[in-house]
Amino acid sequence: MLSSIPTCFSDNYSAETSTASMKKLAPVARAAESAGYVTLHDPGLIDREKLRSLHDPDYVRAFITGKGDLAASQGWKWTAKIRTGVLAINAGQIEGARMAMEHGIAANVALGFHHAKPERGWYFCTFNGLALVAQEFPDKRIFVLDCDEHCGDGTAEFTKVLPNLYNFSINGTTWGMLESERSICRTLKPVKEDFTPYRDALEEAFQTIRSWKPDLIIYQAGADPHVDDPISSHSMTTEQLLERDRMVFRFCNSEKITVLFVLAGGYQTPIEDKLVPLHLNTFRAAYEEYCL
Ligand SMILES: [Zn+2]
Repeated sequence: MLSSIPTCFSDNYSAETSTASMKKLAPVARAAESAGYVTLHDPGLIDREKLRSLHDPDYVRAFITGKGDLAASQGWKWTAKIRTGVLAINAGQIEGARMAMEHGIAANVALGFHHAKPERGWYFCTFNGLALVAQEFPDKRIFVLDCDEHCGDGTAEFTKVLPNLYNFSINGTTWGMLESERSICRTLKPVKEDFTPYRDALEEAFQTIRSWKPDLIIYQAGADPHVDDPISSHSMTTEQLLERDRMVFRFCNSEKITVLFVLAGGYQTPIEDKLVPLHLNTFRAAYEEYCL
């Protein structure tokens, strides 16, 4: 049994962003470490060649150099600190996947960047760290269980070119996400009063996982479905989010399917008071399932 969840993070992950996105990562990592839920590992910075294989090289060049409109296409004014943070976070996706394959579970204190598309960034997402794992491990079947408030539309695009990638998105907000044989979108009404539709959607995802038989699940444990989040339509309570996390980890552990989880969205402020406790609950759920 594990004594804590192997988790990727470094101080490089942090950057000033207009949304909580990269500002929240250090407070969440430190809180999870203080609670004893995680052991932190520094993944370094990603080899840029891996990004040029995944995304349009012109887009990667723009982001690396900070020159041209594409450099800020995810919606933040470009800074060198954001660039370093993104390169560290994407390194953590690959290293986190490797650690999960070794231990059965791992985390990356990061965003999955699920809106990022092959040719550009989109809605606070720079390079798609979910598709990146599928590219890195072509012989492994990668199933993204995306439980963010928003659909994984960027990941859906990548399923067209990565045959080992499956994208299952349970969301409150869809932007016409591409659906196909390996890209499923379930958009639900607010679930505050009745969690049953959400539970049913999760069960459908579990059933899909059983039949597709992935080698790795990447769980996007978004905190932006929360009722107090400024951009939530899901309206989930804190208890419902925790129940969601527990269902996912119980399933992965009991079915012995390797899982890597990431924070994904979550935009409440003040970060320490409102947002950290929600993300910390995901680590707590994983710790209680795998370490107690
Ligand atoms: Zn979101």
